[in-house]
Amino acid sequence: MRTFSYERATSVANAAATAARNETAKFIAGGTNLLDLMKLEIETPTHLIDVNGLGMDRIEPTEAGGLRIGALVRNTDLASDQRIRRDYGLLSRALVAGASGQLRNKATTAGNLLQRTRCPYFYDTNQPCNKRQPGSGCSAIGGFTRLHGIMGVSDGCIATHPSDMAVAMRALDAVVETVKPDGSTRAIPIGEFHRLPGSTPHIETALERGEMITAVILPPPIGGRHVYRKVRDRASYAFALVSVAAIVRNDGSGRVALGGVAHKPWRVEAADAELPNGAVAVTAKLLEGARTTHENAFKVTLVERTLAGILDEMKG
Ligand code: SF4
Repeated sequence: MRTFSYERATSVANAAATAARNETAKFIAGGTNLLDLMKLEIETPTHLIDVNGLGMDRIEPTEAGGLRIGALVRNTDLASDQRIRRDYGLLSRALVAGASGQLRNKATTAGNLLQRTRCPYFYDTNQPCNKRQPGSGCSAIGGFTRLHGIMGVSDGCIATHPSDMAVAMRALDAVVETVKPDGSTRAIPIGEFHRLPGSTPHIETALERGEMITAVILPPPIGGRHVYRKVRDRASYAFALVSVAAIVRNDGSGRVALGGVAHKPWRVEAADAELPNGAVAVTAKLLEGARTTHENAFKVTLVERTLAGILDEMKG
């Protein structure tokens, strides 16, 4: 690990301004992904801004009837909050499906959104990777692609986003609240927060330099039955091959979002309208134009069967 300086932020405004001034500064909270990346010298910040002392650790009701989740709320606390469990069960289940108990105790809401891909070539510094080193090439294309994306991929990167929490938030139409270095605030719909790789896979979110996540807003509950099903190579502590977040109401309407298929949580609103017509119809819309390899083409069938299983159970 390379040397770096460290400070404890005393205000959101100061933290954002410091990050904006120093191109190689990084915010740190739980550090569950960042520290691993620093040890491997994939992330090499020269300055860390510890934001743990800034509050932002409460879950509060909004005037609109939803919830405001502070950026520093730990994944364990979010998953176990009674309001989340009762009204946003999808989110609680997705959180519990992620990582391990120890990691969830440290990992924060903002950090979960900002975690980086688990593409094995990204972590192997001997291999070219456009995300780690722009312009160097993509080792996954033509390499081992079983875990990689099939939607929204580019000739520059086919990585997937690893978060379970973000998939549930996408289905719930969450909004990411931020503060910019000039003190202005933004509300970014989660569907616009993560980017597709295109020719700049190293730019993963809509955040500007120094801009800091302060909260995630959940709209008022929409009811329905909530299921988060994560299909993976082992029963726990593994990233999704695919995951399906589904909300289905009694009249058959609802929402579906996917993990493990794209550079961002994947949702196609037109596919939601197909829910009354069953899993085949939904999957056809959700995965229209899929770009697969012989190693990851199974994900199309896996999504369809996972969703079919969920819908069958809901009928029962
Ligand atoms: Fe890097 Fe993306 Fe290619 Fe993986 S898929 S090697 S992260 S550019």
